[in-house]
Amino acid sequence: MSDFVYGSVEKRLAKNLFETDDGNPHIEINQEIAKVTGTGKLLVKVCPAHVYSENPDGTIAVEYAGCLECGTCLAVAAPGALKWHYPEGGMGAMYREG
Ligand code: SF4
Repeated sequence: MSDFVYGSVEKRLAKNLFETDDGNPHIEINQEIAKVTGTGKLLVKVCPAHVYSENPDGTIAVEYAGCLECGTCLAVAAPGALKWHYPEGGMGAMYREG
């Protein structure tokens, strides 16, 4: 359906709530493997929530609090480059529209 009927994806995602599990990240990157395999740059490109960004030194920063729990990063990451699990119960994304 069109944006006219449902609004843009960005507007709909903005309605979600996030319960942040401070100090207990559910995403960790092995920077060495991510760099050697090119996984880091790939994560920056594919994540729909822009959780990953490249630092000036080439390492990858992770803003895990905005994760939509879609699993796309797991599908593209080289073995060993990414540790990912769902946030603890009651934490993470709470969808307001489907
Ligand atoms: Fe981004 Fe989806 Fe991976 Fe979360 S699960 S970090 S939203 S690609």
